[in-house]
Amino acid sequence: MKDIINILPKNVANQIAAGEVVQRPASVVKELLENSIDAGASEITIQIKDAGKTLIQIIDNGKGMSKKDALLCFERHTTSKISKATDLFNINTKGFRGEALASIAAVSHVSLITKQPGIELGSNIDIQGSEIKSSRSVVSEVGTTISVKNLFFNIPARRNFLKSDNVEFRHIANEFFRVSLSHPEIKFIFINNGAEIYNLTNSSFKKRIINLFGSKTQEKLVPVSEETEILKINGFIFKPEYAKKTRGEQYFFVNNRYIKSPYLNHAINSAFEGLIDLKHNPSYFLNLEVDPSTIDINIHPTKTEIKFEDEHSIYAILRAAVKHSIGQYSISPVLDFERDKSLDIPYNYKKDKTNSSVGIDIDLNYNPFDHSSKKKDYVNLDSFDKKIESLEFSSESNNFSEIDFKELKSNISIESTIQIDKKYIVNKNKSSLIIVNQQRAHQRIIYEKFLQSITLNNYGSQKLLHPVEFDFSPEEISVLNSNKTILNQFGLIFKSKNNQLTISSMPAYVEMDNLKNSIEDLIFNLQNEIPKNSFSESDLISKVMAKSLSIKNGTILDLKEQQYLMNALFACKESMICPFNKKTYVKLEYSQIDNMFK
Ligand code: ADP
Ligand code: MG
Repeated sequence: MKDIINILPKNVANQIAAGEVVQRPASVVKELLENSIDAGASEITIQIKDAGKTLIQIIDNGKGMSKKDALLCFERHTTSKISKATDLFNINTKGFRGEALASIAAVSHVSLITKQPGIELGSNIDIQGSEIKSSRSVVSEVGTTISVKNLFFNIPARRNFLKSDNVEFRHIANEFFRVSLSHPEIKFIFINNGAEIYNLTNSSFKKRIINLFGSKTQEKLVPVSEETEILKINGFIFKPEYAKKTRGEQYFFVNNRYIKSPYLNHAINSAFEGLIDLKHNPSYFLNLEVDPSTIDINIHPTKTEIKFEDEHSIYAILRAAVKHSIGQYSISPVLDFERDKSLDIPYNYKKDKTNSSVGIDIDLNYNPFDHSSKKKDYVNLDSFDKKIESLEFSSESNNFSEIDFKELKSNISIESTIQIDKKYIVNKNKSSLIIVNQQRAHQRIIYEKFLQSITLNNYGSQKLLHPVEFDFSPEEISVLNSNKTILNQFGLIFKSKNNQLTISSMPAYVEMDNLKNSIEDLIFNLQNEIPKNSFSESDLISKVMAKSLSIKNGTILDLKEQQYLMNALFACKESMICPFNKKTYVKLEYSQIDNMFK
């Protein structure tokens, strides 16, 4: 019989191993950051381009590598962190499997520059798809710089399956949050496409949280601390009122390593029981310290899962500690933590006084949902009647397929509209009742306005007299920034700096009262609903805008607003359905009502 078993060539074996370790650019970022931390760095710079697809570069000032180690580190199962099996039960470093660099080098172009202290010259190794291309001595600083270019250059299928830059960036940012939160003593600089988006000085855990998630975070935090024989806990939870519908900020670190634990998450949820809505999630940042010999972190290649020897006790201690903190806070919220005035920024938004002399823009797009125009925050001089006229006029130019609408429209009068159940607008006319769902109607209106603006290249926007400022996480801001051109076209004009988003113009026809929520929705929907390279991006964005910026059911509308909705809805090309194919209104003929009484 012929022998058929081969030993795989090294590069193939490495590529296979890479499949486990390197799933996406974020995995590279994680591995390299962990190596820098293990090397004792006190300052780490991360530079990425195109969400890591083009470049991931990590620069550290750690202990560096010798020339020989610099070559050896790219071999599989080479590690300085353990040397015998028993070491596996006492791991104090992030890495230990000795696979990361070999895997990364198997699927990208890597350049390594590294120098140990006290050595004159550093080493520079270039390696592409596991093949060493060059190795020489270079002048360099103490520490290590690893540049990973063209990830998955030799596995097109993997490269093609990467998600949009937005999504990949989000994964990288998540890794960055996890690592930088678990090491507030290390200084981190994060440069994304040439722009510095984080510059985190070494600080306390609390300051690190605030630096990452915005100054407003300060007032949300309640400290948690507990020390028992088997477990030490310190960290923070968000006050119950800041629980979020989305998963929120949920971080467990065990011995400075980020871990996922549905089981421990459950412990926190149960501590919050009765205090937050079932659909909401508490946020937490908790450091757990346990004896390394009582955990097994080796059960998952990317090491975010962990096994505790005494899971049940840990659950119970954690739950009790969190409960205790919530209790403390609700008895004496003020005493609970010392405020750090230097981190204070006025809540919500502040008015930009220097801008109050901005000229008045006459805005042809009347927006009755702009309640604040009454408070003179926004400029809007058009009278409602003028608007009705212009709607009347514009509807003439539209080709309605259903004559009914025109008739309906001409029959609408202010007296005959009422709002019921904070979500339906009921209008009576000669022969029927029309019941409009306000949210869906507004979605349809916004959607068509946007589509129209795109075709006419004429985007209505309302300039805000006082630009409004909000705090968002840089990650959230980056979502807006990466859609900036199209959002600008849609009339949303903004700038950003660190955690701050400044909005100077909003699309016409949107509700201004709930600006912050609308922007939050917009970010969420942009993140989740815009696939990469979609065929009809403008249609999708119009939908996302409609969904995010529409008035919601549950909002009380005054007569003018009800009227506007009715008029604008029936001026739409497709009044009957919202952009998501649901009915916008129903019609009840008086004859049908008569029938009900038969
Ligand atoms: P592991 O971290 O599991 O040991 P890696 O493949 O990530 O495996 O790294 C292999 C070895 O290369 C490490 O054990 C370490 O000795 C060395 N190394 C990697 N990155 C650095 C760095 N930034 N500074 C110093 N040494 C490093
Ligand atoms: Mg490693």
